[in-house]
Amino acid sequence: VAKLADLLSADEAQARILKNFGRLETEIVPLKEARGRVLASSISSNLSVPPFANSSMDGFALASADTTAASKGNPVQLRVAIHIAAGSAEDARISQGTCARIMTGAPLPAGADAVIPFEDVLELDQAIEVSSPAHSGACVRPSGQDVIVGQVILVQGTELAASHLALLASTGNAEAPVVRRPRVTILSTGDELVSPGSPLKPGQIYNSNSPMLAAAVDEAGGRAEVLRAAEDSISGLTDALRSAANADLIVTSGGASVGDHDHMTDVVAAHGEIGFWRVRVRPGKPLLFGKVFGKAIIGLPGNPTSAMVTFELFVRPVLRTMLGAAPFRPTILAIVEEKIDNRGGRRTFARVRLSYRDGAFRARLAGQQDSAMVRPLAAADGLLVIPEDREEMRVGEVGSVQVWRLPLD
Ligand code: AMP
Ligand code: MG
Repeated sequence: VAKLADLLSADEAQARILKNFGRLETEIVPLKEARGRVLASSISSNLSVPPFANSSMDGFALASADTTAASKGNPVQLRVAIHIAAGSAEDARISQGTCARIMTGAPLPAGADAVIPFEDVLELDQAIEVSSPAHSGACVRPSGQDVIVGQVILVQGTELAASHLALLASTGNAEAPVVRRPRVTILSTGDELVSPGSPLKPGQIYNSNSPMLAAAVDEAGGRAEVLRAAEDSISGLTDALRSAANADLIVTSGGASVGDHDHMTDVVAAHGEIGFWRVRVRPGKPLLFGKVFGKAIIGLPGNPTSAMVTFELFVRPVLRTMLGAAPFRPTILAIVEEKIDNRGGRRTFARVRLSYRDGAFRARLAGQQDSAMVRPLAAADGLLVIPEDREEMRVGEVGSVQVWRLPLD
């Protein structure tokens, strides 16, 4: 068995995995399928928005020059010559001494350079009275105010959210070029595993890794295909791995440690190659990376918390790289509020709960740091990174936290 010092560090392992992956192909999707997808190329607009000058208020469009002399004591009267509604295609025009009744979003008539809202004029029969000068451009949205034709409106790598779809739509884009979602085959292994929904027999536990990992793949922007849990046999594992033919990446959990029934490394070695096995991290030491049946495989440990943490460290960045999106979680600095031990020279990813008080984020353990336990994992807001050369984090020290969610309190 290799000594701890001989194992790869978290950074080395991450780098050795990531260099095998690049961005996937582009596909075009309609806007209604584009939310959450990653933009494959920057988009420049074929259109100025708004495409024409229009009114930002319901009111009267006029020539500001006609109102220069207007005052309370000496109001200016303008005849209402035309009505213009939003959507009007008429080539409207006003002449000196007249104005147009105009609605929000309606095109500004030629001859007008300002709009006065209804509430700021006195309406007479067929005319209005203006008692202060209108400024040129008042309540007018000029053409190109929002977007100018040719302007880059969204950059490659943007994860499309509702507001981005509005920008695409407003510039006339019915679809968007996005990166294909990476296909990930998920395989949990273990004779003891049963799917929730079936009764537990003696010695069995529910398979929590499969739903967890499928959701994590989805959240990262990938597409998970979950295989039925494989039994701890060479043939069972081999058949399952062989069936993952159309995956960009195979992610397994369990069977990668040194137990009598842990066959993952043997099966990968027999039908592919082992890139490396085991990393100097806690939790998650028995991580495996390699190729099997021509496909990249990342073998995660079976304990649910170890599987989740190693997914975060080694799988999520791969999926994000394949998507051309930001590979890593945002990191914040947080004040550690309880002492955390880290003996043994591994980089520890402590599951912590965050709070925000007196202008700073604060981190506390989200529960017992036992990698078999799921409840502390579910309570965690992120991972506090404790460097391998630190035997403990003391109260009041500042540490980096990879954030899953920001605290609500
Ligand atoms: P292994 O890596 O196969 O030795 O598994 C380590 C521990 O994780 C054992 O207690 C397993 O029962 C547990 N385990 C493995 N896979 C899963 C899973 N899919 N869901 C829940 N627990 C699991
Ligand atoms: Mg097992």
